[in-house]
Amino acid sequence: MTQRAKSSGRMQALEFRKRLLTWYDAHARDLPWRKDHDPYRVWVSEIMLQQTRVAAVIEHYHEFLRRFPTVKKLAAAREASVLAAWSGLGYYRRARMLHAAAKVVAGERGAKFPETAEGWRSLPGIGRYTAAAIASIAGGEPVAVVDGNVERVLQRILGERMSGEEFWLTAETLLDRHRPGDFNQAMMELGATVCTPRTPACLTCPVLELCRTRGEMAGGDRAKRQNKREIDYALHCRDGKVFLVQRPKEARLMAGMWELPQIDLPTLGERQVRRSARSDGHHIDSPILTLRHSITVTDYTVRVWDRATPEGDAGKWVSYGKLSKMPLTGLARKVLRKARLGAPKA
Ligand code: SF4
Repeated sequence: MTQRAKSSGRMQALEFRKRLLTWYDAHARDLPWRKDHDPYRVWVSEIMLQQTRVAAVIEHYHEFLRRFPTVKKLAAAREASVLAAWSGLGYYRRARMLHAAAKVVAGERGAKFPETAEGWRSLPGIGRYTAAAIASIAGGEPVAVVDGNVERVLQRILGERMSGEEFWLTAETLLDRHRPGDFNQAMMELGATVCTPRTPACLTCPVLELCRTRGEMAGGDRAKRQNKREIDYALHCRDGKVFLVQRPKEARLMAGMWELPQIDLPTLGERQVRRSARSDGHHIDSPILTLRHSITVTDYTVRVWDRATPEGDAGKWVSYGKLSKMPLTGLARKVLRKARLGAPKA
């Protein structure tokens, strides 16, 4: 590369940082975890934000910190309480890892947080992205982050398809070393709110003049195909209590969490065939609640039936007032709330 090309690249990087940060200062979303740079709070928010929508995280963030205001309190909590506070956020392995890491910080490190990305990465459940995000936002360490939003922005700005380590090297080159935490958040914010996968808002983009593609690479990220499934649950209540069952400890998803007993019923299509086959026109039966729920790549149609607990189901009766302390699955919490059985907001 010639000297002139190098200095022109440097000028462009300077201009990019300046425009991006000016835009971020004026337009950053007012999110609760951006109010201070406390490492514990930044850490909790980063773990919650993994694969979870900002709106869902906002619903849980304050309540989680109210229950566990410090890393010591989190470390001392029972796992069931941590999972209960996490209920509704999904991907419960994150909560278990956060709890395990809190024990390391509170126990082995005397409640002192790591000061570098490398230090953060040595804790359970913290990978390269999360370590860099916490270290740059909470500690001001000049390390770049790369997530799906940053990858998209980089490829579009530079007009190049990249992979793996190329993303990290390019992000490091662009990083503003004076305000690394803000720069990283600004890159992610740009990808989340302006340079979106399908329809980037190029006309309002703060770095439009520096972008080599200006919308030409839009639409490349195809939406994931969602599977569809129907699922039925029994809601059995008596004497102010509801019957719940625990998912197996070795289950791949939501291991050890509590939920309503699942029941096998004919599919909607089969029920319609049976209904039309009846000559007396009598109604067979209908669920007391129907709702939609998505877990990873599956959209569920969930039906809840007023049914006695299936014979042989091992579970327990839980009083309505104790539901808030139970590590419920997000779906169970949603159903109980809709059924107005006192399931809490968290
Ligand atoms: S100009 Fe358009 S494509 Fe380029 S970074 Fe901005 S929003 Fe993305």
